[in-house]
Amino acid sequence: MQIEPIRQRLRALGAKPAHEQAVLKAWTRGWSLDHCHRDPTQFFPAAVRLALPELAEDLANLARVQSEHPSADGSARLLVTLRDGQAVETVRLPRDGVCVSTQVGCAVGCVFCMTGRSGLLRQVGSAEIIAQVVLARQQQTLRRVVFMGMGEPAHNLDNVMDAIELLGTLGDIGHKNLVFSTVGDPRVFERLPRGPVKPALALSLHPPVPTCVSHCFRVRRELIPLSSWKPVSGMRGPPAIRSSISGPCSKASTTPTKNWRVSKRCSPASTP
Ligand code: SF4
Repeated sequence: MQIEPIRQRLRALGAKPAHEQAVLKAWTRGWSLDHCHRDPTQFFPAAVRLALPELAEDLANLARVQSEHPSADGSARLLVTLRDGQAVETVRLPRDGVCVSTQVGCAVGCVFCMTGRSGLLRQVGSAEIIAQVVLARQQQTLRRVVFMGMGEPAHNLDNVMDAIELLGTLGDIGHKNLVFSTVGDPRVFERLPRGPVKPALALSLHPPVPTCVSHCFRVRRELIPLSSWKPVSGMRGPPAIRSSISGPCSKASTTPTKNWRVSKRCSPASTP
């Protein structure tokens, strides 16, 4: 499910832009839907206000925690069931973060990842991405959202960018704290800087050992069969990206338009 049908549902009830924004703001922040700066009975049209409990129930059904698996480092893996019964993994991270899934399954097929073995089963809708954030936000303070769970966000760009836009505006997540993680689909480099909310970018490099760049390409192709991103050496960005190639798995972490920075990160999550 996408965010737009939620907007249309509110408009059909007579909601004006201010009412629509208040409801979406309350939802993305994990509040009661009638939370607003004024008395809800005075602020919302009666039809909207009376429909909010049913809408809240429908939104809660978008993603429900089936089981929770805490780790010693303070993170917790949540097995989340979507409305159609499909399951994805959402991970609450230390230091006020959450890692969300953007696809059920994944077409990239990285050899080290259980998610890739199933292939792509379906896209996760923009509202379902937000619903994962809301689940985490109901449990902890949230300042950071990383799109690094099941799926390749670049293969679900419209839904992911819609979710990023809502989180970076009404959701009150800082743009640099929204981290788009990709194996390197070239469409990402074009699309991310164009959106109204410009997230940070984490780029998977995945060399298994300290190595030269050409050897890295070969190993990378073996590890990530569907990666369409080839020339690290042809990529725009500083040499530090290339010199970062070391360690068991690496990501170049950067913003799309400025301040290229490099940091090592772990691989995207695998399925439960
Ligand atoms: S590591 Fe990420 S991109 Fe690779 S198969 Fe798994 S989910 Fe897909």
